[in-house]
Amino acid sequence: MQIAIDALKTHVIYKEKKDINFDSKRTNMNIHLLHPATFGLDGGAMFGIVPKPLWEKKIQPDEQNRIPMSLRCVLVQTKNKNILIDTGIGDYHPDKFKTNFIINTDQAPLEQALNKINLKASDITDVILTHLHFDHVGGLTTEIDGKTKTVFPNATIHLHKKHFEYSQSPTMRDAGSFHTHTFLPVINEYIEKNQVHFIEGDEEGIVLTDGEEKIEYKISFGHTPYMLHPIFDGHIYMADLVPMSHHVHVPWVMGYDIEPATTTIYKQKFYDRITKENLTLIFEHDIPTWGGKLKVDERHRYTLDPAFESNQELIEKIQ
Ligand SMILES: [Zn+2]
Repeated sequence: MQIAIDALKTHVIYKEKKDINFDSKRTNMNIHLLHPATFGLDGGAMFGIVPKPLWEKKIQPDEQNRIPMSLRCVLVQTKNKNILIDTGIGDYHPDKFKTNFIINTDQAPLEQALNKINLKASDITDVILTHLHFDHVGGLTTEIDGKTKTVFPNATIHLHKKHFEYSQSPTMRDAGSFHTHTFLPVINEYIEKNQVHFIEGDEEGIVLTDGEEKIEYKISFGHTPYMLHPIFDGHIYMADLVPMSHHVHVPWVMGYDIEPATTTIYKQKFYDRITKENLTLIFEHDIPTWGGKLKVDERHRYTLDPAFESNQELIEKIQ
């Protein structure tokens, strides 16, 4: 029990060490991992049909069965752009919500994380949103005098058009994950200012380019329709397709997913490309394990390559 509770208290921000030399580094992009806050969700919901005696060997729940989770975002710097991938949970939530989800954050957590790498929120040129669940889009907005405002006034928002449409008429099962009252007015403002790039591909394509450098995407279904996974510099952001290292095994799928069987199909499809291109996975919700490489055994079961673990030392705790 103690481990989980302690993990929730650590408000840490990580960044890559300056002289990082990823074996996977393929471009001149700079990549920073930002860890603006932690929160907790029900362990049973996070592991779906996996029995508790199995998942609690991997991660210990607290007395209310919640497990500690990260809200890891990525900042990709190209020659002319500061690109943020997902925005965390935000700081606008009422106390009851914060208590229920054990949200451990300060005011403006993402701005603080950016300050640590000498950037301001106004320096962000692009925000890529994987999907519009509150723990991914929450940090796009803050509340000033009871009004919802954007945190990144100069950014272009990259978002899948069909996911945006879906977010406005979800099923009753996933409606609670979309805080439309908070993000919709702000995204509508971005649309009015011509600062939204709607992505329309059903499978894969390019989110943006800066000269020779590009961020590609791949689309998944299962967790939510048209979830967007950015691919950059040999890395792929797994978002809620593989939210934690514990979900690498294909059948370990979240109970939150609207179509869990579809998630397994997309995990397999993604793993095919990941292994073919030797991509490094980045986990959004895993506190200690920010990412890893896939290994497949003779029975076609995927695990994280333990040889990659040493690369965790390349991540520096800066707060
Ligand atoms: Zn989600």
